[in-house]
Amino acid sequence: MQNRISNILKDVTNILLPISCFGCNARLYRGEVLLCTSCRHQLPLTEYTFNEENAVDRIFYGRINIKKANSFLFFTEIGIVKNLIHLLKYKNQEGIGRFLGDWHGLILKEQGDLLQIDYVIPVPLHRKKLKKRGYNQVALFAKQIATHIGADYTDDMLIKTANTKTQTKKNRLSRWYDNRSLYEIKNHELLINKNILLVDDVITTGATMEICANTFKDIEGINIYVTSMAVVH
Ligand SMILES: [Zn+2]
Repeated sequence: MQNRISNILKDVTNILLPISCFGCNARLYRGEVLLCTSCRHQLPLTEYTFNEENAVDRIFYGRINIKKANSFLFFTEIGIVKNLIHLLKYKNQEGIGRFLGDWHGLILKEQGDLLQIDYVIPVPLHRKKLKKRGYNQVALFAKQIATHIGADYTDDMLIKTANTKTQTKKNRLSRWYDNRSLYEIKNHELLINKNILLVDDVITTGATMEICANTFKDIEGINIYVTSMAVVH
């Protein structure tokens, strides 16, 4: 009875406030959350693992101290993934992060390659940007992953100290010089001999991850793993 009432209430809410699919705008049916069934099936999962070498690893080759990289989805100029990440970042749809993190986290747990991770750390936003957006778009994604793989989520060990604009037009080197002291580590001693998973939204050139990972370079015995919601395909 309780269930029937709550389903009826959901249907009524749906009529009053039609909820549409974040991928294609089609009306969502009962049981569908955020994405319609069709868009859910169309999501381009990379199916990369932390066990075999993949295209995300190759982005970082010869550049930094990252042990292994991975990404959940392929990001393309047009498509569901781009829509989802746009809504997540700019339209207050924070729940998309939870949805993606839950899915990715479950897969990582099943694959079993990341069960030795101590801390899951989101790429931080500068406090001014955090205040403006109201949330770090990577936080819920990273939290869900941490829960599934049995690690601790922590957003107070890596801090962004400079508020810089995204400089997509610059090349990798000049961007690196501009950004190299962007981040700072807190509680340095807690990270010694630990395995950490750094998490971002989209990996494009790998520059952000490179700078973040570089921040940890003087910590003894640290192993850095990397994942993201999507990688540019
Ligand atoms: Zn759809």
